Amino acid sequence: NMGLLDLLKNYKKFEKNPNLLILGLDNAGKTTLLYNLSQEKIIDQGPTKGLNAKTIIQEGFTINVTDIGGQKEIRQYWSYYYDECDAILFVVDAADDARISECNEQLKALLNDPKLKKVPLLVYANKSDLPGVLEADEIMEKLELNDINDRDWSLYACSALKGTGIMEGMKWLLEKISTK
Ligand code: GDP
Repeated sequence: NMGLLDLLKNYKKFEKNPNLLILGLDNAGKTTLLYNLSQEKIIDQGPTKGLNAKTIIQEGFTINVTDIGGQKEIRQYWSYYYDECDAILFVVDAADDARISECNEQLKALLNDPKLKKVPLLVYANKSDLPGVLEADEIMEKLELNDINDRDWSLYACSALKGTGIMEGMKWLLEKISTK
């Protein structure tokens, strides 16, 4: 089972270890994705300053994870993560049609943040193992991804639970950030 570390070995062109930021609404599957990417070698720093955040630092890469869509007061702390961010992994719960517009709002706010200007965006349409979930093209439409013209972006359907689709997305992303 190939993990992120195996994939990274194919890329020699990084100036520094990639710093990835996983964002999404609560329950989207971010923690499950984190475990999948890290192959369980996680240093969980737990909740930080009332922010539901986790960090893994592993030889080769760092991943920060946090919920978005929380209280306004904690937003000020996000910028701490934005500063060092090389790529955004935006996780969408494809089984949760009811919260897609909330996802869209949060994504728009992210893309408008000056600190995240030009940072490549990988959208994961997660929980693709469940029946009747939103298709990739429906999510693309509802999140208005085709309107994004100031950065590289792509969308991959995945199941963080089953481990499908994740490395395909990461391959795309690493291509983008390794040739910067
Ligand atoms: P987070 O709040 O974004 O960190 O979400 P979690 O990773 O804690 O996942 C929230 C819930 O969704 C948990 O019950 C997970 O087991 C479940 N989940 C996460 N990814 C998947 C997936 O790909 N498929 C399915 N069926 N469930 C998932």
